[in-house]
Amino acid sequence: MSKKVGILISILCLALGLFSPSLVQAQAGLTITSSSARAEFPLKLIFSLSAKSAANVVDVRLHYKVEHDSYAQVTSEVFVEFQPSTDVNVSWTWDMRQTGGLPPGSTVEYWWTVKDARGGQVETAPTRIQFDDNRYSWQSLTEGMVTVYWYEGKQAFAQEIMSAVQQALARLSQDTGAQLEKPARLYIYASTRDYQGALIFPQEWTGAVTYAGYDTIAFGISTSNLNWGKRAIAHELSHLVTHQMVFNPYNDLPTWLGEGLAMYTEGPLEASYASYLKRAISTNSLISVRSLASPFSALSELATQSYAESFSIVEFLISQYGQNKMLALLNTFRQGSGWDAALVKVYGFDMDGLDKLWREYVAKKYQ
Ligand SMILES: [Zn+2]
Repeated sequence: MSKKVGILISILCLALGLFSPSLVQAQAGLTITSSSARAEFPLKLIFSLSAKSAANVVDVRLHYKVEHDSYAQVTSEVFVEFQPSTDVNVSWTWDMRQTGGLPPGSTVEYWWTVKDARGGQVETAPTRIQFDDNRYSWQSLTEGMVTVYWYEGKQAFAQEIMSAVQQALARLSQDTGAQLEKPARLYIYASTRDYQGALIFPQEWTGAVTYAGYDTIAFGISTSNLNWGKRAIAHELSHLVTHQMVFNPYNDLPTWLGEGLAMYTEGPLEASYASYLKRAISTNSLISVRSLASPFSALSELATQSYAESFSIVEFLISQYGQNKMLALLNTFRQGSGWDAALVKVYGFDMDGLDKLWREYVAKKYQ
């Protein structure tokens, strides 16, 4: 018995040895002397490698992939340019200005393949680097599926953020059945300015961004805009929850549903939005449910009306048909269903049917 095991192990070693990079390395004298990566958030990731060989090193490639939700995991391959030599030091910079940025805390896995002129080859073991925003000293607070990261303000500030998180998740779950399916990370920058420093292309009008495929949200929230912050947290968390729930390769949610749920999770409709709704009803200029399925107008007035209407459509569906139907609708979208088909399956009407019923409801409610 023990002899058999011994033979088996030596066969196994032999088999592994034949293909192991270290054996190739020893034969060819090709050695990796150092490999490292360094983050300069949010603009750069810098990868470096040193290799030595008896023959000239002629080929160095970096391979990397970013961990996130995707149906097609992409590994990028970079041919690093250098002068062939027996002793090479190379580095390559991933310039995020060319490719778009990554959220704070995202993980990149990378490895190198190196060849020399005599046919020696080495592949390094995959290594992970976390692309942290190391401009700040982050503290963290975890409750359930959510971790809040912050760097300014006391524990009580983070606690207040966390209770807004938990309230929003509870509201969403109670009224729609939707819940986080994977852990989420919330980065709370201490100001809009700090937050915009985390973006490659800052946009003046945003104070929050959801990186849905990365289960990450970043905000600029200080104690002076905490009320806005709590609404923003509810809104963006709702987007994250619905993304996790319905992520599929075929179809997105209609915009009115995604934005409507996000607005609904914030709490009662703010008076400024309600006034747009009232005006649209009295001037007979409501935008149709079908139009609101596409991305909203960039014009501020029309955009505000679109958000207000989306809130109202979702409120109509939840108040008139209940939590179970909304959950069924989300689960139908998860299967990649078309917009009309999903509504017909769950509610028995398509977007035009919904439009007709909702107009009656909203007219009654606001007149
Ligand atoms: Zn939104």
